[in-house]
Amino acid sequence: MAVIGIGLGKFSSMSRLSTLHESFLSYFVPLARSLDYIVIGVNEYYSSKKCPVCEEFVAQVAIRRLYCSHCGVYMHRDIMAADNMCRIVQSYLLQQRRPRYLQPVDEKGHYPWEEDCDYVSENSVASTTSPSQETQLAADPALAQ
Ligand SMILES: [Zn+2]
Repeated sequence: MAVIGIGLGKFSSMSRLSTLHESFLSYFVPLARSLDYIVIGVNEYYSSKKCPVCEEFVAQVAIRRLYCSHCGVYMHRDIMAADNMCRIVQSYLLQQRRPRYLQPVDEKGHYPWEEDCDYVSENSVASTTSPSQETQLAADPALAQ
C-alpha cells in the first residue's frame, strides 16, 4: 500500500501558482485515487522551517537554501519540506497525531492543535482521534472523495 501526502499550502491570490496548484490537485488526486493510492492532505506548517533530523529551526541562507546550525548541514527547502511531510504522514499512521516539532506551541508550552486530545506525555498514544488540522483540511473539496 502506498500513501501520498499532498501539501495544502495556499499561495497568494496575486500569484498564478494558486490556480496552478488547485488545477494540479483536481487532476492528480482523482487519478491517484483511481489507482488505489491513499491521498492525504498535509498542512505544511513549519515543514520548511524546522530540521527533520534535529527538529530545530533552520536558517535561510539563500533563495530555497536552508542551513541547520545544529546539524551543520545545508538543505534545499523543498526537499526538507518533503521530508517533513513524510514524517507528518508517518506520524499520523503510527501515532494518530502530527509530530510535536511541527506544531505550534503557545506561550504556556501547550500544543493548541492537540487540545481536544487526552495526551498525557510525548510517548503516550491517544485513545481518540485527533481533530487535527490535517483531518479538517482533508475535507477540502479538492481532496474529497
Ligand atoms: Zn538539524
